[in-house]
Amino acid sequence: MPKINRRVKQLVSSSTLAITARAKELRQKGVDVVNFAGGEPDFDTPDVIKQAAVVAINNGLTKYTPSIGTLELREQIVRKFKEENNISYDVSQIAVSCGAKHSLFSIVQVLVDEGDEVLIPAPYWVSYPEMVKLAGGVSKIIPTSPQTNFKLTAQRLSENISDNSKVLILNSPSNPTGMLYSKEELEAIAEVCVKNNLFVISDEIYEKIIFDTDTYTSIASLGPDIYKLTITVNGVSKAYSMTGWRIGYCAGDKEIIGYVKKIQDHSTSNPSSISQAAALEALRSAGKDALMMAAEFKKRRDIITSGMDEISGISYIKPEGAFYLFCDFSKFGDSIETAKSILDEVNVAVIPGDGFGAPGFMRMSFATSSEKIKEGIRRISDWVKKHA
Ligand code: PMP
Repeated sequence: MPKINRRVKQLVSSSTLAITARAKELRQKGVDVVNFAGGEPDFDTPDVIKQAAVVAINNGLTKYTPSIGTLELREQIVRKFKEENNISYDVSQIAVSCGAKHSLFSIVQVLVDEGDEVLIPAPYWVSYPEMVKLAGGVSKIIPTSPQTNFKLTAQRLSENISDNSKVLILNSPSNPTGMLYSKEELEAIAEVCVKNNLFVISDEIYEKIIFDTDTYTSIASLGPDIYKLTITVNGVSKAYSMTGWRIGYCAGDKEIIGYVKKIQDHSTSNPSSISQAAALEALRSAGKDALMMAAEFKKRRDIITSGMDEISGISYIKPEGAFYLFCDFSKFGDSIETAKSILDEVNVAVIPGDGFGAPGFMRMSFATSSEKIKEGIRRISDWVKKHA
């Protein structure tokens, strides 16, 4: 047996994998599966962005760029942060990467040392604890509940801080709950972080997909002290339906970003030069497309929630952003078995909450057409009636 690295051996497979593999198997057999498992917008990438990539290819932008991205793209990201988020960064504080996931991974490697504690509110995005494991850190999971809309409160944060606490990972709007932190909630959390000298990794990848407000608050914009402690992560995957292009970015303290650069220098080198040209165009001119897609997600949010309201006994908190509905299926027992049963009996793929640190819940993605959403809800209703 090969002797595998001790940290790598601890990694768990993505929880979405088992269900999506089973769904695929059924589809190959000709079964019509409604897919509520997807984690990406179902729209095509807007034309203006695709054209920018074609131009980049034709103009020979097909060579290495700086490992943290072209100056042009980093300058555009600086403008984006200033204009949209009211945060001032210098280009030296920006690193472009192969997706927000890549940025998150590098930052965790830079900040987390052996034994350092990383505070992660649950439900959380599946990859955070795995990234922490690889860095040798310890994830301190802080459970939240529907009573606080699945959000971390300043008080819960304070209670969970120890001498080893180094970093808090925040994700607003959240995958899997769709919850959005208000300015006041973030101010209260920021105060605790500043008092305890806790770094914040703020995962803002769903920033553009918000439903009931026009205002998005970035924690780094809330004052000079929290600005110094925050690394803001974002990207083009969700906002512009560019998941396959692999462009993300992070911004923060110059020294931290310098180390992110070193990691990228020795691992990935630059993200695709063509995708960078496309991302530049997205940030420059696809704002309207992003708004249009967010408006469509809002319509679907309303369709899926009113559908769920007709099904008795399943509760949820209305998502304020992203494209997920997080539902309480705990009365049916083990959620992995429930998800399998829903897939096998009524052919709807949903993701069990276990991998998000919330067993008993199901994540239902509404990144699919209104017709499919209605059909999926009809089938789930049949399943619930049968098992009630
Ligand atoms: N953070 C969260 C919360 C996500 O849901 C995802 C994508 N599923 C990412 C980061 C990664 O995005 P990217 O495609 O830019 O790597």
